[in-house]
Amino acid sequence: MTDVLIVGSGPTGLTLACWLALNGIEVRIVERRPGPHRESRGKTLDPGSLDVLEQLGVAARMTAVGNADLVFRKYFDGAHISDTPFTDALFIGQWQIEEVLRERLAELGVQVEHGTRITEVRQDPDAVTARPEVGPAIGSRYLAGCDGGRSTTRKLLGIPFVGSTEEEALMVLGDVSAPGLSRDHWHQWFTSDGGAMLLCPIPGTDSFQLQASRERDARGEPIPPSLESFQRLFDRHAGMPGIELADPTWMSAWTVNVRMADRLREGRAFLAGDAGHVHPIAGGRGMNTGIQDAAALGRALTSALRTPPGPAREEILDRYEAERLPAAAELLADTTERLERVLAAVREPGRGTEAGLR
Ligand SMILES: Cc1cc2nc3c(=O)[nH]c(=O)nc-3n(C[C@H](O)[C@H](O)[C@H](O)COP(=O)(O)OP(=O)(O)OC[C@H]3O[C@@H](n4cnc5c(N)ncnc54)[C@H](O)[C@@H]3O)c2cc1C
Repeated sequence: MTDVLIVGSGPTGLTLACWLALNGIEVRIVERRPGPHRESRGKTLDPGSLDVLEQLGVAARMTAVGNADLVFRKYFDGAHISDTPFTDALFIGQWQIEEVLRERLAELGVQVEHGTRITEVRQDPDAVTARPEVGPAIGSRYLAGCDGGRSTTRKLLGIPFVGSTEEEALMVLGDVSAPGLSRDHWHQWFTSDGGAMLLCPIPGTDSFQLQASRERDARGEPIPPSLESFQRLFDRHAGMPGIELADPTWMSAWTVNVRMADRLREGRAFLAGDAGHVHPIAGGRGMNTGIQDAAALGRALTSALRTPPGPAREEILDRYEAERLPAAAELLADTTERLERVLAAVREPGRGTEAGLR
C-alpha cells in the first residue's frame, strides 16, 4: 500500500506528486492518457506558482523555457492600434510545464503510470482502494483526485459540483503555426462586429495558441473547429494576406463553466485543481490555482502522515478544505468578473486581454 495515490497528471497532480516525493512520502500517480500531451492550454505562471515551483527546485527550469517579456499587440478592424508590454507573468505552454514537472518527479524516483484510468474508488476507515479500468487495484492511505473539470473521482465520491454551464461554447481554441507572423507579440485582433482572433506564441516552438470567436454557418449554427475554419476566421478578423495557418496539433472549443465542489474532502480522499473548481479562463488563474491547491494539499498530507492517527491528524487534514474552499469561491467570482471586463474592453480599439489581468 502506498501513502498517497494521485489520480491525474496535469499541473495539479504533478505538483502534488513532486511535493510529496520531495518530503519522503511514498506516492503513485496514475494518468488515463497513454502518454504526455502537447496542448498549450494554461499558458501563464504567476509569481505565486513560481514560488511553489522554486520550492520544488524547478522555477529556474521554467524560466529557461518560458517568456517573461511578451507584448500584447492589439488591432481593431484590421488596423494595428496599440502595444502593451506585460512582464507580470511567465508565458509557457502547459505541456512544457508538465514536461519539467515529470522530469523532476523522475529525478525523485517516481514515474507517471500512463494508460491507467481509475473507474472505481472505495474506502474504509484505514485505506482507499482505487480500481483502474485495466490492471490490479491500488491501495493507498490517502487519495488525491487531480483529474480535471470532468473529475471521475469527484463523481465516484458523490461530491456535488455546484454552479452553471453555458449551453454553447464561447470560442474555439487550438495550437497552430503561422509562418511569417512575428513571435514577439501576443497578436489580438478584434472587430466592430464582435469578432476576435488571438494568436499567442508558445516559447521555444513554432506554435501559437489560437483563441477565436466561433464561426457560424448560414443557419447560425456554430461550426466545429478545424484548420479550414481557423483560416477563414483569421482571414476575416486579421486580414493579413499571405499568412497561412498550418500544423494544427490541438483543436478544441471552450464553454463557460462556473462550478465548484461543495467539499474538497470525503474521508481519506481529497480534490484539487480543476476537479474542485472550473471558471472562465480570463486572467489565467486556473492552473495557477491548481498549483496552489497542490502545495496546500502537499503540506497537509505530509504533516498528517507524520502525526499519529487521531484527532490532531484529522484536524490537519480538515485545514486543507478550510483554506482552499474559500479560495475556490473567490476564484469563481473573480474570474467571472474578469471575463465581463475583457468582453467589454475589447469593444474599444486598442484594448485586449490585459483588461482581465490587472
Ligand atoms: C485555452 C486555455 C487557456 C488557459 N489559460 C490559462 C492560463 O493562462 N493560466 C492558468 O492558470 N490556467 C489557464 N487555463 C486553465 C488550465 O488549463 C487548467 O486550469 C489546468 O489544466 C487545470 O489543471 P489540473 O491538473 O487541475 O487538471 P487537468 O490539466 O485537466 O489534468 C487532469 C488530468 O487527469 C487525467 N484524468 C482524468 N480522468 C482520469 C481518470 N479517471 N483516471 C486517471 N487520470 C484521469 C486527465 O487525462 C488529465 O491529464 C487555460 C485553459 C485553456 C483551455
